Amino acid sequence: MKLLEDRIRQDGTVLPGNVLKVDNFLNHQIDPQLMDQMGAEFARKFANMGITKVLTVESSGIAPAVMAGLHLHVPVIFARKHKSLTLTDNLYTAKVYSYTKQVNNDISIDRRFLDASDRVLIIDDFLANGQAVQGLFDIAETAGIAVAGVGVVIEKRFQKGHQLVEDAGVPLVALASIASFEDGQVVFAQD
Ligand code: 5GP
Repeated sequence: MKLLEDRIRQDGTVLPGNVLKVDNFLNHQIDPQLMDQMGAEFARKFANMGITKVLTVESSGIAPAVMAGLHLHVPVIFARKHKSLTLTDNLYTAKVYSYTKQVNNDISIDRRFLDASDRVLIIDDFLANGQAVQGLFDIAETAGIAVAGVGVVIEKRFQKGHQLVEDAGVPLVALASIASFEDGQVVFAQD
């Protein structure tokens, strides 16, 4: 998505550890217009696939997931990283190693919100090593639901997540695909 690539070039900062900081439009301050256009793009790419729900992980996945759900006209569920008092024991849970925080999190979704007939679209802000997506794959498998696709705002193609999703046989859409970081600059993949 050209608009997103331009925004990354303009506002993104490459940090040590292959981390791209995009906190003035995606991860902290959010640009709603851009988010809306990205949601529309996800909905176009995953149209007519029988998607019944969008799944993501809090917190950075929520904004793009909500916009995708808005344009697909389906509910959005975010897996929680911390047990809330209002979350009962009736949970699907998976372990996820956080790329940026370097800690293990248990992510949970209340069983009431997933049904065996669901076909879900997984949305996240970044695809790096694929741990967040794998956690949601694990929950989908336990719940016995189909994963129709994975949509990420930004993938770092040189890390393991891209291959992990391909190996799972699940269609993957990345709105911006980064081939590498060179001298602090973002190099986008050509296709
Ligand atoms: P993965 O689970 O694929 O290894 O990493 C994905 C998660 O880590 C995303 O949900 C995102 O929050 C975070 N993440 C991974 N790489 C980056 C990055 O380069 N920049 C930012 N801001 N977050 C990242």
